Amino acid sequence: MTIKENDIEMIVKQVLSNLRNANNTPKKSSIGVFDDMEDAIAAAKEAEKEVKFMSIEKREAIIKKIREKTIENARALAELGVEETGMGRVDHKILKHKLLANKTPGTEDIKTIAWSGDRGLTLVEMGPFGVIGSITPSTNPSETILCNSIGMIAAGNTVVFNPHPTAIKVSMLAIKIVNEASIEAGGPENIVTTIFKPTLESCNILMKHKDIALIAATGGPGVVTAALSSGKRAIGAGAGNPPVVVDETADIPKAAKDIIDGASFDNNLPCIAEKEVVAVKEIVDELMYHMVKNGAYEITEAEAVLLTKLVLIDNKGRLSLNRDWVGKDAYKMLRAIGKDVNEDIRCIIFKGSKEHPLIVEELMMPILGIVEVEDFNEAVEVAISLEHGNRHSAHMHSSNISNLTRLSREIDTAIFVKNGPSYAALGFGGEGYCTFTIASRTGDGLTSTKTFTKSRRCVLADGLSIR
Ligand code: NAD
Repeated sequence: MTIKENDIEMIVKQVLSNLRNANNTPKKSSIGVFDDMEDAIAAAKEAEKEVKFMSIEKREAIIKKIREKTIENARALAELGVEETGMGRVDHKILKHKLLANKTPGTEDIKTIAWSGDRGLTLVEMGPFGVIGSITPSTNPSETILCNSIGMIAAGNTVVFNPHPTAIKVSMLAIKIVNEASIEAGGPENIVTTIFKPTLESCNILMKHKDIALIAATGGPGVVTAALSSGKRAIGAGAGNPPVVVDETADIPKAAKDIIDGASFDNNLPCIAEKEVVAVKEIVDELMYHMVKNGAYEITEAEAVLLTKLVLIDNKGRLSLNRDWVGKDAYKMLRAIGKDVNEDIRCIIFKGSKEHPLIVEELMMPILGIVEVEDFNEAVEVAISLEHGNRHSAHMHSSNISNLTRLSREIDTAIFVKNGPSYAALGFGGEGYCTFTIASRTGDGLTSTKTFTKSRRCVLADGLSIR
């Protein structure tokens, strides 16, 4: 038998291609976790082929498992999160995981619109994007990954995460939980993926990759701006600095309790948490008195100077957060400035000007500066300036409906909680669903399954109408 020259060429090509594929095989080192971003994207793309044709019933079965496993692992996730990042509180992180497991919407969030008439039937259905690239923060790391996974998978997508480098262990645990849930419910492995060492560089690869159809960025202004510059559709969940306004018509003891409950939750890490108070002068002292009764500790002007030096770094006039103190317990900060206090102090309060750095900066620490204003008109002006145009969150305590309506319109934020702690906005002591990705910058608001879908019109001309 003689072999023709063409056949030899074909065989050589085939062998070379097989060799190349063997080298390119993703080095899978842990469930859903890869060494290289390209491999993590390829694996999620492969899983997407199955998810795309999966029944809604099957998607829902996977989501049910994610919910169950999140609840089972709530303590482990909370403890690892606090241990790894050094931020937040275990008891509150357990509540956050249970909240997302119970209240993040699933497939029921997707609605179809239909028109039927003489010329047939037209449907608008919400379909998946494909593979989503999600960038997640250090402040709610596993909460964001699990919450995103529920909504994004419910919408029929798979996900590649670029978690915050300081929260990789807890993020990997969340990713493992989601993949195990998928496999146990009969879904694919790698329904969500990530890499061992996420960096800004891996984030850039993710944002620019041809196989990534949509970016969801949850974090500070840098990451949201980068996502919006990616040339793809991006959901931007950025920074906030939520003010809470209290006018003279509020129920002051209740307002004080709600504010301290909200501001001290997970040591003020949630982006929606009360970060400063604007109170009219008629009630400001009474408000602070009740705050102290609810576990706050009032510091003097001189102590506020010491605290500023502790938690903010002055780099040639440009202030930045001292990350060592983000999400730390109030009593630890007080002890660091020389105050001998008990561990049950939940929050530090002080009266300060609207220019005070501890009031202007988004600290994510249980420190609440209180700005005293003449009247409600001034309160509106000050609250808007302290929100910095983020249009993220603002809150108010009042029984004057005109005042509540006015501030909510003028401050124009994605979240506006009236007469409750800030976390009521996440369905915790308030109506509505939960999310940890609040797309303030891009106007999507509180994200849910439908946010991760694209609109598709399907027309059947001159038929299927039975009217
Ligand atoms: P961060 O901005 O430091 O990091 C978020 C993620 O973005 C990380 O993975 C980080 O590596 C990456 N990143 C940062 N800058 C980047 C850039 N220029 N290009 C590409 N990637 C970049 O955020 P953090 O400290 O973990 O979280 C705190 C901030 O996030 C606060 O400002 C908070 O208000 C905000 N936040 C917002 C929401 C929301 O839903 N709107 C939720 C949580 C946190």
